Amino acid sequence: MGPDFCDSPPSSSSSTASSHHVVLFPFMSKGHTIPLLQLARLFLNRHHFAVTVFTTPANRPFIVHTLSDTAASVIDLPFPDNIPGIPSGVESTDKIPFSSMSVFYSFAAATKLMQPHFEQALQSLLLPPRYSFIVSDGFLWWTLESAAKFGLPRLVFYGMCVYSNSLSRIVAKNRLLPHLDDNNNDESKSITVTPFPWISVKRNDFPPVFTELVYSKGLASEFHLNCLKSTENSFGLIFNSFYELEAVFIEYWKQNLLPKPWCVGPFCLAEPKAWPRPTKPAWIEWLDQKLEQGSSVLYVAFGSQAEVSTQQLEEIAIGLEESMVNFLWVVRKNELELTDNSDGFEERVKDRGMVVRDWVDQREILMHESVHGFLSHCGWNSVLESICAGVPILAWPVMAEQPLNAKMVVEEIKVGLRAETCDGSLKGLVKWESLKKMVKELMEGEMGKEVRKKVKKVAEMANKAVVEGGSSWWALESLTDEICKENKSSKCGD
Ligand code: UDP
Repeated sequence: MGPDFCDSPPSSSSSTASSHHVVLFPFMSKGHTIPLLQLARLFLNRHHFAVTVFTTPANRPFIVHTLSDTAASVIDLPFPDNIPGIPSGVESTDKIPFSSMSVFYSFAAATKLMQPHFEQALQSLLLPPRYSFIVSDGFLWWTLESAAKFGLPRLVFYGMCVYSNSLSRIVAKNRLLPHLDDNNNDESKSITVTPFPWISVKRNDFPPVFTELVYSKGLASEFHLNCLKSTENSFGLIFNSFYELEAVFIEYWKQNLLPKPWCVGPFCLAEPKAWPRPTKPAWIEWLDQKLEQGSSVLYVAFGSQAEVSTQQLEEIAIGLEESMVNFLWVVRKNELELTDNSDGFEERVKDRGMVVRDWVDQREILMHESVHGFLSHCGWNSVLESICAGVPILAWPVMAEQPLNAKMVVEEIKVGLRAETCDGSLKGLVKWESLKKMVKELMEGEMGKEVRKKVKKVAEMANKAVVEGGSSWWALESLTDEICKENKSSKCGD
């Protein structure tokens, strides 16, 4: 099946308005797609570029809906069928069980089967307006080859901050973590990250698959190696971050790592502050009530991907109940029954707690004046959204690079406190007693006060970075200039 043009491709009238055409290709997971759609707004609104987003049929409605107020075009390509372990119709990683990483790797590897369709679609789009460049997710390593075939520069996006990305690269390259089979299996042993002597990491700061990647040859290591090679050979790496947030790490990257980094975020600030809608969702009305009562609320959410066990959900419920704070807790749909098990919990806390089992506008919640704290898994988007809203974080990493993000939040930028598991491991339980203590500290304690003060300052810096003359504003300016020079075959707008 050839490319399916769901929305009309950019018309010739847009070719006169837009001298550039940006092709965006996000990876099929919410945490990777959302920031690229926010980036689309930067290109559309600030530079008036034409933007085409590539996706798959099942992901299309979310993308079309998210960009419905823009002039972006969306093209969907057929997603490969018969991938081992992936039920037919599942085209997004939030719908696959993460308990088995091998399923994720077959999903990611299968995306390469989309390459011929992608190139066919690029071919048919090679009419005015010309492309200027492709921005694609780092997991779609094969898009570099496609970009090269059409003479287009490719920029890579990973969704990680510079801190976590550079630490991972340094630790992997220098094999700083001992092999799991070595006798040296002490999980709590600290290892100094040489270029940054004040930073020490433990094995638990990396997902279990990380050491496998470094030491063994298999689907996972082959996949990451492909991604790394293709990233290093790309024109540049776009970071959803801003210079002032992690200057030391950006400078290190510029001197030591490839490709050239561009910090043009936080992307979430490119979104409108409020979306037009007929009625307010129940949870926003609930937050409004809390605000009227002069009460502050803790927002609790673990993103779109993390799986929280039944036992852990129950510990969270008790911890929140015992802490006596007001809370808004968003659980994923498949956790519905699990929290229902918590024996009258919602009834008992109904005056000060609300559980939501729906997709929410997280930014709207974080920006609500009543929200004074965020118990978060530290997905990078959630961290940035919290920072931009001036809300301090209780960091509880669950998977992927989240432990590094949590270290960054707590130790580097000091905008949050840490929730600790009982055995220090990533998979360990956070017991209700410890959760209660940390929730109270964040919402009412002295340490909470400190991080709240700090996050307000960082929020100001973030907002300054994206407005005219700010660091991210300039970075995007110079990025588009350089792309113009690189892309000699296309005529750049004056
Ligand atoms: N998100 C949302 N509503 C939800 C759940 C998640 O808007 O109900 C958004 C959230 O605001 C963030 C993204 O989904 O932009 C999740 O990305 P993050 O990096 O925080 O975590 P991930 O889901 O990748 O683990």
